Amino acid sequence: MNLEDIKGIGKTTIKYLNELGIYNAQDLINYYPFRYEIIENTDIKNITDGSKIVIGGIIENKPTVIHFNRKLNKMSFHVNTGEFITNITIFNRAFLKDKLNVGNAITIIGKYDQKHNSITASDIKFGLVEKTLIEPIYHSSFKISSIKISKIIKSVLGKVKSVDYIPDSLIQKYDFINKDEAIKIAHNPKDKETLKKALSRLKYEELFMYMLKINYLKNSKKKANGLTRNVEKEKILKMINNLPFELTKDQLKSVKDIYDDLISNNRMNRLLQGDVGSGKTIVSFIALYINYLSGYQGALMAPTEILASQHFTNFKKMFPSLNVILLTGKLKAKEKTEVKKAIKNGQADIIIGTHALISEDVTYKNLGLVITDEQHRFGVAQRGNLKNKGITPDILYMSATPIPRTYALTLYGDMDISSIRTMPNGRKPVKTYVKTNKEIKDVLYMMLDQIKAHHQIYVIAPLIEESEKIDLEDIYKLEEKMKRAFGKICNVGIMHGKMSAKEKEEVMENFKQNKIQILISTTVIEVGVDVANATMIVIFDSYRFGLSALHQLRGRVGRNDLDSYCILISDKETKRLEVLTKTNDGFKVSEEDFKLRGGGDIFGVRQSGDMNFKLADIKNDYDLLLKAKEDSQTFLKSHEYNLEKYKYIKNQISQSTNLD
Ligand code: ADP
Ligand code: MG
Repeated sequence: MNLEDIKGIGKTTIKYLNELGIYNAQDLINYYPFRYEIIENTDIKNITDGSKIVIGGIIENKPTVIHFNRKLNKMSFHVNTGEFITNITIFNRAFLKDKLNVGNAITIIGKYDQKHNSITASDIKFGLVEKTLIEPIYHSSFKISSIKISKIIKSVLGKVKSVDYIPDSLIQKYDFINKDEAIKIAHNPKDKETLKKALSRLKYEELFMYMLKINYLKNSKKKANGLTRNVEKEKILKMINNLPFELTKDQLKSVKDIYDDLISNNRMNRLLQGDVGSGKTIVSFIALYINYLSGYQGALMAPTEILASQHFTNFKKMFPSLNVILLTGKLKAKEKTEVKKAIKNGQADIIIGTHALISEDVTYKNLGLVITDEQHRFGVAQRGNLKNKGITPDILYMSATPIPRTYALTLYGDMDISSIRTMPNGRKPVKTYVKTNKEIKDVLYMMLDQIKAHHQIYVIAPLIEESEKIDLEDIYKLEEKMKRAFGKICNVGIMHGKMSAKEKEEVMENFKQNKIQILISTTVIEVGVDVANATMIVIFDSYRFGLSALHQLRGRVGRNDLDSYCILISDKETKRLEVLTKTNDGFKVSEEDFKLRGGGDIFGVRQSGDMNFKLADIKNDYDLLLKAKEDSQTFLKSHEYNLEKYKYIKNQISQSTNLD
């Protein structure tokens, strides 16, 4: 049914509807209210002066109208509520006068004035309201109102048949009402209870379809010829036993998850998430070792040069007998050629590097495992690049931005997830303070205490690293300031994105060796850098960062059993920043971050399009989502899915399988 075929709407209205994304009758009935106004009928005995009331009654006399000017008018009449007669006044509704006949039942919404026994009405409805009046409110525009939209939708309700995507078995399981009926109710609700039923049925359908796609993807990825491996478990256990520390419970569980994935013939597609400093790196090293023992090459990809070389050094120390090589974009041409040769002929067991690992001209002999650190920093396309090298390697993503379970389930629903929630023993929470620029003196004294105790400090400069026009002035000013305060008692170093990799490495190395005590930096240190003697981080203009990013920065300190401090300097948004003073749990921080900012900017591609639910909301409808998740899994396994009848679901799914 086209919009043109709907009675009573003209070209202009159609244009306005188009602007709202409505092009046909199907679009119209899928244009659900974004909220409902619920008006409860007032108990007459309880009305008090000035209270907002909804009251039904019979019109007692013909309304009188006073016109003040062309636009402004006032209409008055009497209504008998059954208990008493009251005077009604309503402005600018003179056009209703002829419809208000004596003896008609109407409902008045307005404010009661006891002294004058009158109601100033904000609205009137024809007929009596039984108990509650529920009004659908639509997203409207300046050109077309919610009331008008509601009217148009009501005029096509029942004339458009919709396809029900919920399989019969589930309709029976939940005793769902018919879809067309549910749509009718959503647009024209009579009472709260049936509205709730109708909405949850419609929401469920959206969530079910989404989870069906995700689970379908998950299954099809797993089926993709995973590698089977034969690994001597003893060797792994021996390696773990020889570590200088005992793995935490969550680390062990993660290792077990990964081990199981690797030896099964399914392809691993796993996300390892855990707070900064929770010990993901060692888990990834063990994964690389297991993969090595089974005879394959393994690659670990880091987002920065610094991190890559840090991993490289640590790995070599831990596994001196393995042939580990470092591949970054900064290698000299001749070195690069040699490294690539070693990767191609299989001499290299473990390859650690940056984006260079996935450049087109790197060919692996037998890449069995790919690990990406801080996976959200790599674009989907880049990740794809790696996957396409020859055989299909197992994949492990690591992220230090824990995602609340709700989101993880949907955003990464086609991945398996291992979470490290407990920090290694002996790690104390980082004491966090919010200070304004006026309180800078306090901050300097706090820094002084740390320097006196022979500890080191990170200072994060208020620079936006990603911006093209990096203004270095700020960081130099800050350096001057710090040198003035501390130059006599310690060394101050700076590091920023405009420096070459070699320069950065040099500074970092000096900091690691405690030749520099205060390191002023832009956010290039954000990920993974590990200097245990650093006990304080001072972040200028911290309001510029999301809570999760700040939490990551904070994770640079508190890496041993010393007391550590994080000082957030900001003159703005201090309330938001206070969240960090109250918790050190990254999962909680990200929960808050999501509440405040939403996850959109963090996950880019995944978020867009595919998760545009019309009614459902993954936060509020979490329980429904869980059901949909489980049901879709069962459904995919059932015979029902193979019936001709469900071709449409398969079509829906195949349309979206190119989403990764
Ligand atoms: P992440 O990568 O999760 O941010 P790291 O792997 O860098 O954290 O771990 C931080 C520090 O904690 C490292 O110095 C690491 O050696 C150490 N560490 C990891 N696991 C443990 C453990 N179970 N017990 C004690 N220290 C650990
Ligand atoms: Mg496998």
